[in-house]
Amino acid sequence: MKYNVGDVLVLKKPHACGSHQWEVLRIGAEVRIKCVNCGRELMIFKPELALKIKKVENSAHIK
Ligand SMILES: [Zn+2]
Repeated sequence: MKYNVGDVLVLKKPHACGSHQWEVLRIGAEVRIKCVNCGRELMIFKPELALKIKKVENSAHIK
């Protein structure tokens, strides 16, 4: 699944706070994502993240 910085990923499993939505902050070998609800950031390996993504919501921002 393709995504870019600024997109919101909907993951299969909810975060501890109950939100499924994570904003993509940085993409490398690991991807830095931020929970949209509580603001918690985490780094996750790309292949691992790929398994968790249910849906990609493109950012509404025009760059
Ligand atoms: Zn959260």
